[in-house]
Amino acid sequence: MTEPVTFDNIDNKGYSEGYLGDNIRARMKRDCKRFWAGDNISDYLHEGDVEKLINEAAEAFETVLDRLLIDRENDPNSRGTARRLAKMYFNEIMAGRYEPAPDATAFPNDSKDRYEGMLVVRSELRSMCSHHHQPVAGVAYIGIIAANKLIGLSKYTRIAQWCSRRGTLQEELCNDIAREIMRATDSENVGVYVQATHGCCENRGIMAHSSLTQTTVLKGSFATDSGTKKEFMDNIKLQQDFAPR
Ligand SMILES: [Zn+2]
Repeated sequence: MTEPVTFDNIDNKGYSEGYLGDNIRARMKRDCKRFWAGDNISDYLHEGDVEKLINEAAEAFETVLDRLLIDRENDPNSRGTARRLAKMYFNEIMAGRYEPAPDATAFPNDSKDRYEGMLVVRSELRSMCSHHHQPVAGVAYIGIIAANKLIGLSKYTRIAQWCSRRGTLQEELCNDIAREIMRATDSENVGVYVQATHGCCENRGIMAHSSLTQTTVLKGSFATDSGTKKEFMDNIKLQQDFAPR
């Protein structure tokens, strides 16, 4: 049995004996840090922590499989499943919770003939819904009017994927991408359109396997100027003609 974690038995570095996951959770609670499925908690992780957390989660997934009455000792396909699940959550489908923001080096856009037009980037996304941990698959179209900083084209997609590799709701995801793009570029004029299919509607519940959900977040001139909004929506249609989802 491990000792329960309380604020008293946490040392200066924030650790006590017991599960590392319990220690980290206690520190976040102490700091009133929100740690919902869609939140990034990389500030609370030190080097090597993820490996330890994977070990702890693998142990917990073993219990889940046992409770589901799956023979993980004799079924060869279920033998390593608990560890595979733990690694998949930390390193892949929820990696955006544990990794810091992608490094998006900004280049100045302040010359006399600087680019002042709209840029629209199509980013493929994989996410999962917080409610059912079912896959969400789709595309984000990120529109921006360049401000004084430019970031590399691939960075838009890296940021969008960092936001989506978590447990999310599509509405929140759309907001998160807009906020992080604004932060990385200093632009106040950003539009994000996401369309995605949801495993929780396809594989269970209403079993609607061709349903598509669309969300739009418009900031600055994308919200206030109908010409900018129309140009963004027209560009999305052109992108969809070029690369049907
Ligand atoms: Zn769901």
